[in-house]
Amino acid sequence: MAAGRAAPEVARTEAALRERLGAWRRGGARIGLVPTMGAIHAGHLSLVDLARARAQRVCATIFVNPRQFGPSEDFAAYPREEESDLAKFAARGVDLVFAPEPAEMYPQGFATSVTVAGLGEALEGASRPGFFTGVATVVTKLLILAAPDVAVFGEKDYQQLLLIRRLVADLSLSVEIVGAPTVREADGLACSSRNAYLSGAERARAPALFRTLRAASREIVSGRPAAEATIWGRESLVEAGFARVDYFEARDAATLAPLAAGWRYGGSAARLLAAATIGRTRLIDNVAVEP
Ligand code: AMP
Repeated sequence: MAAGRAAPEVARTEAALRERLGAWRRGGARIGLVPTMGAIHAGHLSLVDLARARAQRVCATIFVNPRQFGPSEDFAAYPREEESDLAKFAARGVDLVFAPEPAEMYPQGFATSVTVAGLGEALEGASRPGFFTGVATVVTKLLILAAPDVAVFGEKDYQQLLLIRRLVADLSLSVEIVGAPTVREADGLACSSRNAYLSGAERARAPALFRTLRAASREIVSGRPAAEATIWGRESLVEAGFARVDYFEARDAATLAPLAAGWRYGGSAARLLAAATIGRTRLIDNVAVEP
């Protein structure tokens, strides 16, 4: 059993990754993949647990993907903590970590990208042009490279999870995509690598995002039209000290299509999703609309 090892093996190149995983696959092992951008927290580790429950070998990836950051976003500042990440992965039983440099993933002349129409254009896609094309391209590459039997993604990034399910179906990739419930701090704030950006005062206000989503969900379940509850949600976040609310919306849970005008609980399944900035840090979260 790998748990307790000092550090997992690290592959820096596509060739090293293929060689290692190929040997395990030929030995009959099912392979689980957990893609991350590093700065590993309890949410990432819950994905590792799910992968380990479904596969004999688990490969995690650490890659701060330059293609999913806009020019004014935090690519340079994004936390890079490889040494402690490797120790956390080792303690949780990760067998192999793929941690390539950008030039390994995007060599000179790289010209192909993957875009998921519709799903990739709403909400996060509207706020962050190019973001989902960056995500879809790197995830497609990782799924082709590692060819895992199962890959685990968090519901914390609910739109991303749906987009990955869509691209896997559309591109006929043979991998099972598993969604993992959002892991939260004791006060409800979703674990995120970007929480490290928050000052003490901002961190104290940040749980209002989840609280407000949950309160709006309860209101909708008890009969308030979704459109009213989301207006209330946006106002509440501003009152709670969020500088800007990019969106606070109820959408169809399966497609993220807008709900019909006047939609109330009891129709199709819905999801509440929000993105808002506190100080200079942009946080996202979402909840199911259910009792
Ligand atoms: P990231 O490193 O932020 O790109 O996230 C890597 C994976 O971890 C993605 O599938 C995320 O959805 C997932 N993830 C991030 N935060 C959480 C969380 N709090 N709970 C569950 N999964 C998460």
